[in-house]
Amino acid sequence: MADPRCKELFNRPYLSWLAQEDPIALAEMELYNDFPNVGLEYLNATQYRVLSLGATTYNQNTHTVSVTGAQTVAYNSVFINSEGPFSNLTPNVPGAGVTTLDLGTGLNQTEFAAFILLHELGHQVGLFGPGRGQQPDKLPAF
Ligand SMILES: [Zn+2]
Repeated sequence: MADPRCKELFNRPYLSWLAQEDPIALAEMELYNDFPNVGLEYLNATQYRVLSLGATTYNQNTHTVSVTGAQTVAYNSVFINSEGPFSNLTPNVPGAGVTTLDLGTGLNQTEFAAFILLHELGHQVGLFGPGRGQQPDKLPAF
């Protein structure tokens, strides 16, 4: 958040949302030139649902595995794949065997779950471009 562009990216969609949801709070912010911690506001306002978005699959032609990690469906709604790396970073994939889905990060299970939530937060605030978050996040492309 030290980069002023980051603050702008986080604030822009939040402020338009706040204008609809809580115009008094927005007016107070403008009056006092005071901006809240927008990332935390988004996290608190988000409904996370854990549901099946499909198991990890193996492509014999490309020798790659693929699975949906999560999907941001709205600025305040995130689906987490119950069969994805959020809950199992090293699934036993038919055709590929036990496979690590950490994108080469070396993160452990808990850290990677947090990484997924932060990645989706990036979609929620528009950091990764409009519409991108409407698509499921497939690994390893993510
Ligand atoms: Zn993504």
